[in-house]
Amino acid sequence: MVPSSIFLCSVILIIRAVRGEGYQVYTKNPASNCVEGINDALTEVTFGDIDPDAVYYTGLCNSVYHTTSLALSTMKWCTTQKQKDKGWKLMNHYCEEYGSVSLPSWEELSSKVNQSNLIEDVNTVDPTIIGTVFNSTIVLSEEAWWAGQHTDDVWTTEEGYHHGFGWGLYILVGLAILFGTLNRLFAVFVRSYSASVSSPQEVSPFSHKSRWYTMYRKHIEVPALFGYKHSQASAWGFLSIPTRIQGLFIFGYVALNVIFTSVGYHTFYENVYWYGQKDTQIIRYLSDRTGIMCFYNLPLLWCLAGRNDVILWMTGWSYSTLNLFHRWVARIAVLQAIVHSAGYTWLERGYIAVEMKEQYWWTGVIATIVMSLLIPFSVRPFREKFYELFLLIHIVLALVTLVTCWYHVKIWDGAYDPWIWASVAVWAMDRVIRVIRGIVLTYKALSKSGINTKATIPWSSSDQKGLIRLTITTSIKIIPQPGQYYFIYTPYSLKPWENHPFTLASWTVNANDTTLNFLVAPLKGATKRWQKKILKNQERQIDMRLLLEGPYGHTNPVEQYDKVLFLVGGSGITSILPYLYKLKLISIQVPEPTIREIRVIWIVKDQNYAKDVLDNELREYVDMGACGDIPTKVDLYVTRGGANGQQDLVGSLGYDTTESSPTSASSSPGITSTPMIEKIESQNINEPSTDTNNDGELSTSNSDMELGSSASKEKITKSVGLTIHQGKPIVKDLVHQSVNGLVGSERLAVSACGPSKLMDDARASVCEIYGNGENQVDGKRIEYFEESFCW
Ligand SMILES: Cc1cc2nc3c(=O)[nH]c(=O)nc-3n(C[C@H](O)[C@H](O)[C@H](O)COP(=O)(O)OP(=O)(O)OC[C@H]3O[C@@H](n4cnc5c(N)ncnc54)[C@H](O)[C@@H]3O)c2cc1C
Repeated sequence: MVPSSIFLCSVILIIRAVRGEGYQVYTKNPASNCVEGINDALTEVTFGDIDPDAVYYTGLCNSVYHTTSLALSTMKWCTTQKQKDKGWKLMNHYCEEYGSVSLPSWEELSSKVNQSNLIEDVNTVDPTIIGTVFNSTIVLSEEAWWAGQHTDDVWTTEEGYHHGFGWGLYILVGLAILFGTLNRLFAVFVRSYSASVSSPQEVSPFSHKSRWYTMYRKHIEVPALFGYKHSQASAWGFLSIPTRIQGLFIFGYVALNVIFTSVGYHTFYENVYWYGQKDTQIIRYLSDRTGIMCFYNLPLLWCLAGRNDVILWMTGWSYSTLNLFHRWVARIAVLQAIVHSAGYTWLERGYIAVEMKEQYWWTGVIATIVMSLLIPFSVRPFREKFYELFLLIHIVLALVTLVTCWYHVKIWDGAYDPWIWASVAVWAMDRVIRVIRGIVLTYKALSKSGINTKATIPWSSSDQKGLIRLTITTSIKIIPQPGQYYFIYTPYSLKPWENHPFTLASWTVNANDTTLNFLVAPLKGATKRWQKKILKNQERQIDMRLLLEGPYGHTNPVEQYDKVLFLVGGSGITSILPYLYKLKLISIQVPEPTIREIRVIWIVKDQNYAKDVLDNELREYVDMGACGDIPTKVDLYVTRGGANGQQDLVGSLGYDTTESSPTSASSSPGITSTPMIEKIESQNINEPSTDTNNDGELSTSNSDMELGSSASKEKITKSVGLTIHQGKPIVKDLVHQSVNGLVGSERLAVSACGPSKLMDDARASVCEIYGNGENQVDGKRIEYFEESFCW
């Protein structure tokens, strides 16, 4: 957060500094307001020698009566030399800049004053005098001078508020990032502290501190804002409900914007700009405030949309979290733009046709319309159904917004350009880093012979539903980490810009490059096209060239827990495979690793999803019933197809209850084999299991379907790691089982990736378990990690 706001502020300040302006937030009213106020009060009346056809400032600055009145009133009311010098300099600047005339000196003007014609003590804000034409020099009354100066003082104060509140938003964002960073550091501290308290004897009673921490996790950090849906869409699919902590940030941000647009308005009757019209004054200040704050929000909006972003790097927040914030900042900014435009439309209601000819006006109209369109074109159902169209529309409309905003504020001589350029800078930085990442990683794929990918759909898939396996060789050697995902591009296609995120499933580090494996569930767009292409080939295997951009994502420290429960659905298995590999390495390399038990719950619609992964990345763990030295159990839940299907799966995997033979090896979640299968457990879909056996396994004894003889079953049960079930598990039961299996101060990590409902179930179950009641544990002992495949 801090670096991010520093970055934003720096961009703005640098741009302003380069322009030689320097940034100024008005904390007190400038001395020049005295003369400027007098000038404004004088314009409540007019003078006979002002050329009605002249440009406003040319007329005023050429008028002897106006300029002498200005000089004499200045001498009378502006008592300090600073007020006089600064004020006269400013007025001269206006005359030269906007009227192409220089103001004469006071001495010269004094000589022009006709004393017999001089009228003193004229109250130009007196309703009976407003608009009077004078053919003489006048000197303002105290009331008129006060009204003029006060008008300018209020104006500059309002300007100060507009910008001050804008910076206030940046400070809030800075604090939020600071909080996020500290929260991350605190979590690291809690984890390492808890890891050091490892033996059952060391379990401390439910202390005051841990009670607070548990309550914080149960009620603030982990749960959905309200109800239980977070990953699933709410409100007929239109709304994504944040977690409570995200909700707090969003609430704080929205509330601050509302407060900042509602306070700090000073109206008074004698205002010489809008005499007697307090409502007009309010509308004008509100319109300016919302317009300016909308500009302050723009760079933030772009910052939160980027893949390469300091906020992500600092806080470790996921891209989907920032994306959520991006959407809320966008809603606020659009609302501010609408209020700004509506306010000006009301203020200029008599002159709309004239205004429409002004560039600042029509570009503002377009900017507001375009920004407003971005909202309906970004709603969740639209994003989910037409992601590519959503992206295209989003980018085009965002570009139009920036260009039209730039023209809209051109009349301010560049004063508001820094916010536009800051947004452009953030956007450009993200895009440049994307290109660099892509080129560095897979530049060889751009050459003539740059085939770098094998795409296969394994033979085992009897129908077309199997996962696609993409094996991509990078151009340079990299050492991947669990939790990383890459965006995949098809460079020589009709849409080379199209890219999709996929999580790294496994890898092999070679001498000069790295081979990365991705498992892709074919859906309706690019993935469907890949599927069709592969299936056209009899071998169900094709060579391709794909570009990789990444890595993104972060690694969850599951190795710091005693037990891990992975809850995955469908292609979500991808996300846990690298963790299993890492845990295997840790168990081999670390003398006394913290982690002691791994349980994988994998729910698939049909067996074809599972076959390839069970045969490759999971094979070793399933065969050995262990990940390195860590006891590991895989529970596969097949929700469609009957028990015959499961038997086919077992058969096609080559499992044999009596034999053991190694098959192959790989350097990441690898394959060695002592093939065995424990049993197939069949269970009615949605029907809760009724009991647990000694191993904490879910079973419904009357529907178990065993493979092999009872003797071999016993032997197999002890030595292998795969249980196949038919139907869906009850996530809550699985989490409770794992928690019940904790001994002493053991700690559990629950990691979920898969369908939205699965993740919401897992989140709700973990929340339920926090507490000091029966079957509950304190906040340090159970951690919830979520990998989401959508944003
Ligand atoms: C961080 C992350 C990691 C992922 N890892 C995997 C993985 O390892 N294996 C896997 O099978 N799937 C993974 N996905 C999901 C995968 O990105 C989408 O299924 C894929 O983009 C669908 O492409 P499509 O054109 O066939 O989609 P469509 O059939 O057109 O759309 C299907 C769904 O995918 C979403 N989607 C489409 N394009 C994108 C995109 N560019 N970015 C984000 N969402 C998109 C759509 O909103 C829609 O909800 C991951 C998603 C994310 C966000």
